[in-house]
Amino acid sequence: MTAKRTLFPILATFLLACALAADAQAYLLQNRDVVFLVRVGTNRDGSPAFRVATSNDYGAQRVFQLATSSAAMEKTASYYRYAQQVRNQTTMEQVGRYGLSESDRRLATSLLDAEPIYVEVKEGGGGIYNDWKGSFTLRDSNSGASYRIQSPRVVLPLGSAEVTGGNSALLEQTLVHEVGHGIMSKSYGTDALCESPYLHQSHSGGSQTDCCLAIIEGYAEFVGAYFTNRLTIANDPSNALANNLYSYRANGTPKSASELQATEGWVATVLYMLAARSGIQNFMQKMTAIMVGYKPASIQALLDAYMRTYPSDAQAVRATVSKASHGQIYGNAGGGGDGQGITYLVDQYRTSLDRYVRLRYAYLAGSTDYYDSERQWVGQSAQQEARRLQQIGGAIRQSVASGRGAGDTMLQLQQTQSSYQRLYSEVRRRLDITPWYSRREREKLQAEAQAVGEVLSETHQLVRSLEGEPMYYTQGGSAGGRYPSAPHDSKAAYQKLMDTLKSGDRGASAQALEAYEASRSKPAPAAAP
Ligand SMILES: [Zn+2]
Repeated sequence: MTAKRTLFPILATFLLACALAADAQAYLLQNRDVVFLVRVGTNRDGSPAFRVATSNDYGAQRVFQLATSSAAMEKTASYYRYAQQVRNQTTMEQVGRYGLSESDRRLATSLLDAEPIYVEVKEGGGGIYNDWKGSFTLRDSNSGASYRIQSPRVVLPLGSAEVTGGNSALLEQTLVHEVGHGIMSKSYGTDALCESPYLHQSHSGGSQTDCCLAIIEGYAEFVGAYFTNRLTIANDPSNALANNLYSYRANGTPKSASELQATEGWVATVLYMLAARSGIQNFMQKMTAIMVGYKPASIQALLDAYMRTYPSDAQAVRATVSKASHGQIYGNAGGGGDGQGITYLVDQYRTSLDRYVRLRYAYLAGSTDYYDSERQWVGQSAQQEARRLQQIGGAIRQSVASGRGAGDTMLQLQQTQSSYQRLYSEVRRRLDITPWYSRREREKLQAEAQAVGEVLSETHQLVRSLEGEPMYYTQGGSAGGRYPSAPHDSKAAYQKLMDTLKSGDRGASAQALEAYEASRSKPAPAAAP
């Protein structure tokens, strides 16, 4: 009894000394690009609180070493930073339209600095995922101070198959994939990501879900393959992307156009082909601009916006997608031996819409001060194009009525409608914030709103008339895009954004930025066109 009493304090002192010695040698698992976190508690609002992991956190150190010595992770981290900068700059430019002073802009840009990649390491098994909607607190172990952070966080269970399996190439690709989700979340803004019922269910490269999940997962899979050059997904056959494996059904027959667009592995394949094999210059930068500017909810919406924005790349995009889809998308192999296959018709319809918008805009925005024969010619061409639109629309209706490719057609037309809806909202928004004395600018925007409104109304009618064919209508109506439903007052959100930026609270600033962005994309008034 006596011996035990004296032994205990000695043992305790010895253990404490060991802990202190270990602590002195321990270093933080963080650098400029990557910060590893360990959970220390829960905040009052239920969000998690973390400290930075140290080399004493068993198991975390090995993964940290892999993450920080990987060339693929380094490239991914630099792209992550780039995407955040593009979004912050784009947003601040838009904020600037309310008359942001130069010093405010500098302040805001410095406060909206890019976040590093956060990785939460924890004991136990389960899958690796990205919690891109959550916010969390980071506690400084030395000072005791806490910081709120609104940023995606990779959750990495040290008992997960990827960590324990011993295949470091797979673990590296999985980490890059998860950061890919963070890149998308940062580019779009958390609240602008599409919603899918498949989001928290198990899925794989070949699984066919919906367009929203296919773009969310397909984009992350593309990032995982592009930066690691491991051209497959998880444990699928090697070079699955290069061999366009995901374009086939289990029985070996090619998937239909709508099946392809809902297949994440195929979305990853198309993005990979465009980025690495199409000959398009700076595809990554251009795609990032499209993601920030349009927040596309499907591969089709992404490609549409891309080709509208970079028309000189359109031919290469069409060729790549046509090949990857076995001629079903942007190709002439849509059925009907006379070259009037449904895919071909929809393609023609879109081209015609595009041409009509341009002609109509040129006509409406043209000067009315004097007689102008060119303007008259433009007006006549617009009328001609309107007649052509009616003809193609009629042919599409006939084709669908006879049961050919109805689901795909609906999907593609809904997506076309969504992208014009988005464009229309954007033009209306710009009109809202253009002062009355900028008369010419307002006239041009009014002309654009009128022209875009007309094709929006045209596509709306065609989609409505096709919905009257329920026998063949298979696709859901939400595939094309998602718009925040509640309109907010942009100016109030702007004021809040500026106030929080100046307060220096980065977590609150990120949230105010989200709120401001949501308020900008309010839907067009229902009574329009
Ligand atoms: Zn994923």
